Amino acid sequence: MRRVAVLGGGPAGLAAAQAALALGAEVTLVDEGAGLGGQFWRHHDTITDPRLTHGRARFDRLRGALEQATVHTGASVWSADVAASVTLRAFAGSADGPSRRSLAIEADAVVVATGAHDLALPVPGWTLPGVTTAGAAQALAKRDGVTVGRRTIVSGSGPFLLPVAQSLALTGSQVVGVHEASTVRALAAGWLPRPWQLAGKAGELVEYVAALARHRIPYRPGSAVVRVLGESRVEAAVVASLDAAWRPIPGTEREIVCDAVALGHGFTPRLEAALSLGCAIVGEHGARFVAVDDEQRTSNPLVFAAGEVTGIGGADAALAEGAIAGFLAAGGSIDDSRLRGPLAVRRRMRAFAARLERAHGIRQGWTDWLDDDTVVCRCEGVAKQAIEQSSHAPMRAMKLASRAGLGPCQGRTCGHAVEEIMAQAGGRPSGFDRRPILAPIRLGELAGQSGD
Ligand SMILES: Cc1cc2nc3c(=O)[nH]c(=O)nc-3n(C[C@H](O)[C@H](O)[C@H](O)COP(=O)(O)OP(=O)(O)OC[C@H]3O[C@@H](n4cnc5c(N)ncnc54)[C@H](O)[C@@H]3O)c2cc1C
Repeated sequence: MRRVAVLGGGPAGLAAAQAALALGAEVTLVDEGAGLGGQFWRHHDTITDPRLTHGRARFDRLRGALEQATVHTGASVWSADVAASVTLRAFAGSADGPSRRSLAIEADAVVVATGAHDLALPVPGWTLPGVTTAGAAQALAKRDGVTVGRRTIVSGSGPFLLPVAQSLALTGSQVVGVHEASTVRALAAGWLPRPWQLAGKAGELVEYVAALARHRIPYRPGSAVVRVLGESRVEAAVVASLDAAWRPIPGTEREIVCDAVALGHGFTPRLEAALSLGCAIVGEHGARFVAVDDEQRTSNPLVFAAGEVTGIGGADAALAEGAIAGFLAAGGSIDDSRLRGPLAVRRRMRAFAARLERAHGIRQGWTDWLDDDTVVCRCEGVAKQAIEQSSHAPMRAMKLASRAGLGPCQGRTCGHAVEEIMAQAGGRPSGFDRRPILAPIRLGELAGQSGD
């Protein structure tokens, strides 16, 4: 029997596991979360407001199918190797608990479905308590039923800002405004042509727009929070109109009283496992993804990838890609009629992803809202100017000279911004996202690995 390992229990990983099981494979799925569902289906069985969980029936079906699989939740994969077969190593159990269980999973093929982190561009004042990423605000609302503030401003770009505003409002925050950096013109150019391609997404969009109207939340395209004010925590934010390149337009600034700001400028893929497995990565700095062919196969024939790790296209794209990857990883053929549905959805969702990028992709003028001393790397307290000064050095030397990206998050938070600042200062950033460590482990645990 063919053994398939699935790394990640979000929409892509769940669909991959289901498809591999359908072909009779022996499936092992690993996810570091306490429960399955990934970012899209993050929930708490009793606390989460049902209005915040979309497509719950599909999630229940996928989870139900996993009864025939071996599932490890609360298990962080810290090492991934491939030679004649695949080996994933994980520790299961609470990261700060006294005894974590060591797991070693051997498989004939693996589907990497590690998803993405949310991405927040820096703003002067963003280190003040009360500023969160939009994803963190969403996670708190969905999983814990907690809101980040009483008066919250949501600022950034992309349709994700809409469910975030809805979640905040439903958990009791007054959302003062949603500030979308892209201008009306860019949004129209991205979204209006070929409306039939949006079939399936339009309903969700209408629901969010209705929620904004119901809660009287203003949606302001072509604007952004360009500064956060406060002594020891957020007291207000400065909002400005932006031009098409996201440069603040002088004279348009206005101050808005609030106690929380949620920033979200898109997503950045979690590439660590794919990099460990030697998979080729494609794309420019700031937008690098795992390269896959039409079969979701990476540059290594035993390694498949699916979901946001291959491109940002939302949960439907992740589900379709996962179904294809799991089927192929289990030895199926791309010509099998059972893949007709997922292949059609993937085609449609690739068009959707291209629209997302055209309408909401980060424009380079955003760096104009930074001061020289704005902290960009929060872990190490590195300001914009220090990054510019080291930007001509090779990436490794630049990190050592400035310390950007060398803190606990290893550049997961600041990577995109650091690369952009370096590029604009004339440097050639590449590979800021190359991190050898998949998940933190203790030295004692590492030393306890027999045979290593
Ligand atoms: C914070 C956040 C919140 C989001 N909320 C929404 C939302 O409310 N609505 C919406 O439409 N879209 C949301 N998105 C977008 C969402 O990511 C996708 O549309 C969808 O969830 C992508 O599915 P996926 O399977 O590719 O990845 P994910 O859903 O991200 O699943 C990846 C899984 O891999 C696991 N994983 C990663 N690395 C490891 C490791 N080393 N060891 C073990 N497990 C690992 C993670 O725990 C995670 O469960 C959110 C994204 C983020 C980053």
